[in-house]
Amino acid sequence: MSVSGSHVVITGGGSGVGAEMARVFAGEGAKVTILGRSYAPLKEVADETGALPLAADVTQRANLDAALGQAREVNGPVAIAIANAGAAPSAPFRKVTAEDFSASLAVNLEGVFHLWQACHEEMAAAGWGRLIAIASTAGLKGYPYVSPYCASKHGVVGLTRALAQELGRTGITVNAICPGFIDTPLLSNSIEAITAKTGKSEDEARAQLYAGNPQKRFVETGEVAGTALWLCSKAAASVSGHALSLSGGEI
Ligand code: NAP
Repeated sequence: MSVSGSHVVITGGGSGVGAEMARVFAGEGAKVTILGRSYAPLKEVADETGALPLAADVTQRANLDAALGQAREVNGPVAIAIANAGAAPSAPFRKVTAEDFSASLAVNLEGVFHLWQACHEEMAAAGWGRLIAIASTAGLKGYPYVSPYCASKHGVVGLTRALAQELGRTGITVNAICPGFIDTPLLSNSIEAITAKTGKSEDEARAQLYAGNPQKRFVETGEVAGTALWLCSKAAASVSGHALSLSGGEI
């Protein structure tokens, strides 16, 4: 199946990986809706791609449901739901407050739950659908100083595996894409923390981050977008319940 004419909803579509997915899916003729909390970056991506930009917070179900309602009025039933919104603050475990931990679960894990639950019934009714999460290699292995992030991304992988079992006969596939480090705004917090604590230059901090990738480079946003597009293709119809590592062999 081609994605041309299909309605794809992408959370966190105003920057980084989400913006690139908007470009790639729009380029394939999909009807794209992009969601995020700040309207200005969404509008910029929308002006470039023709996507529908809607401000919504994925941690607030009523807010998300209202945005999805508007999106359906314009673009029809949702066929592809890409839960991409995320945040990765870093701190040593002893400094992580209960509020920090809950906030990480809210955006990185509950945000996936809310989007997928809100969209899966219309996909089942259509007999075809794609639930995709942009998880992380942090959903497959541990990293220091990002314990809430790792916990939440491991949760996304668990949710993916459970739903692939439960929704197997509906025509919906459920997958998590697990990239290693990508050079997007999300990395800036980690880079600042490394430069502040070690005195390393920004370039050295970047190299430290991708040192674990055997290809010694950041993953590119286009690689993540291309993988999401492939998951929507006929060739990937049997691919469900996977946590697809895009990390040059790191894991
Ligand atoms: P990014 O540019 O910072 O994008 C994150 C997006 O999520 C932003 O557009 C942000 O927009 C949105 N967002 C955050 N909280 C939200 C909320 N509560 N409701 C709605 N939208 C929200 O970073 P990115 O690297 O592209 O991240 C995209 C995904 O890739 C994330 O899930 C991240 O964990 C994952 N990932 C990133 C890397 C990496 O190294 N960069 C590696 C592996 C996986 P607003 O602030 O306007 O809401």
